[in-house]
Amino acid sequence: MKLYNTMTKRKEELEPITPGQVNMYVCGPTVYNLIHIGNARPMIVFDTVRRYMEHKGLKVNYVSNFTDVDDKIIKAANEEGVDSSVISERYIEECKKDMESLNVRPATTHPKATEEIDGMIEMIQTLIDKGYAYVADDGTVYYRTRKFKDYGKLSHKNLDDLQGGMRSLLVSGEEQKEDPLDFVLWKPKKEGEPYWDSPWCEGRPGWHIECSVMSKKYLSDEIDIHAGGEDLIFPHHENEIAQSEAANDSIFAKYWMHNAFLNIDGSKMSKSAGNFFTVRDIIAKYDPQVLRFFMLSAHYRTPLNFSDEIMAQAKNGYERIVTSMSNLNYLIDKADENSSASSVTEDEKALISQAAEYENRFDAAMDDDFNTADAISVIFELVKFINSNTSENSSADYLKALKKQLLTLTDVCGLIVEKKEELLDSDIEALIEERQSARKNKDFARADEIRDQLINMGIILEDTREGVKWKRA
Ligand code: AMP
Ligand code: ZN
Repeated sequence: MKLYNTMTKRKEELEPITPGQVNMYVCGPTVYNLIHIGNARPMIVFDTVRRYMEHKGLKVNYVSNFTDVDDKIIKAANEEGVDSSVISERYIEECKKDMESLNVRPATTHPKATEEIDGMIEMIQTLIDKGYAYVADDGTVYYRTRKFKDYGKLSHKNLDDLQGGMRSLLVSGEEQKEDPLDFVLWKPKKEGEPYWDSPWCEGRPGWHIECSVMSKKYLSDEIDIHAGGEDLIFPHHENEIAQSEAANDSIFAKYWMHNAFLNIDGSKMSKSAGNFFTVRDIIAKYDPQVLRFFMLSAHYRTPLNFSDEIMAQAKNGYERIVTSMSNLNYLIDKADENSSASSVTEDEKALISQAAEYENRFDAAMDDDFNTADAISVIFELVKFINSNTSENSSADYLKALKKQLLTLTDVCGLIVEKKEELLDSDIEALIEERQSARKNKDFARADEIRDQLINMGIILEDTREGVKWKRA
């Protein structure tokens, strides 16, 4: 399995530090609003990377944080007149709902910055003790960037070029920095902001330190893969490396993966630019699986432009797979009813081995730096193969083998292609009526049976004076 490493600018063979196990950290969102579909790109992409590694038998320990203390969260809290934890907790919950809609599996651990302050203070103190950080008169702690000899190795930036750019960026209050390149590890509280006690001043952490601390605590000093959107390469990931490698005396991450942007009209979708759609906006219009399919239809290092036209293509593509799966299910039901045709014929055996070849080709595409675009083309070829090699004469076991093959590939992509039976309102009402007449006839066993059946289907019944009311759970 090869992956492109931003650090070396090459595709490299994945060789986990501990064979058979991958420790992976993905920088998560700052929670002050509903996530937009640009934020959903890394979630979907790295969830698919995780699924593929598991498909190949690797055990993946996947950590992704929530940044729950930040200027934007504090601003939103002050506007609403609530504590900033009200805002962050609200949007963590909303983000988890969006992840579930998009079939993004929860991380092994989802740490929150505000719950890791002690670890941050400890790492900052280590950096001060080692001479990599210093405390200014007002209690701000800065990282001494030039002291870290490898600074710039990820973003391939030269310190002197950076210095030129930084001088003009110097903002007021930062005159106390020894060098314009130095960045904040801890800053004093301001009126109306959340704060914590520390050896230097009451205040809060800078942004970068949280990932260094959480990656160390929940994974290890040295991890296999660190990932995020490409806007994080500089300065966020560069600063994380400087903090972790100086504090831990070890390499921070072996491989660095970055997804390209999701654009709209050719420019990066972002909250600050105001050119965004939330995941909620889009899934009100399209099946969430279509959004997932759209994200995977391009390689993760290729910029992807969002448009209704491309979403319409994604919808078509996704539905082709869903239709093939529902035809298979129809044929399987038929074949099961007609059990005489259940044993696999010699011809069918040969076709099953041909179908397995698609998995080899799918894996080859994914082994090449997770090329989901090519992997999806292979799924389409398998769909075509299934459509042209199945009929009402096929045996049940043959059809089931093909279904399993298709599901294996769609599961790696995290695409749900089997539609759950939609329970119609009219079906529910018919069952309720049947329950009512069973009660009238004193057939309470039947009445209870129907009630249980409805509960199992997620329908809640309520007996009221006006009759039985129901709602979906
Ligand atoms: P943020 O909440 O801005 O820190 O972003 C959370 C994650 O989403 C980070 O990995 C970002 O790099 C990523 N991200 C933000 N906007 C986009 C975009 N338009 N396209 C792709 N990734 C993005
Ligand atoms: Zn991070």
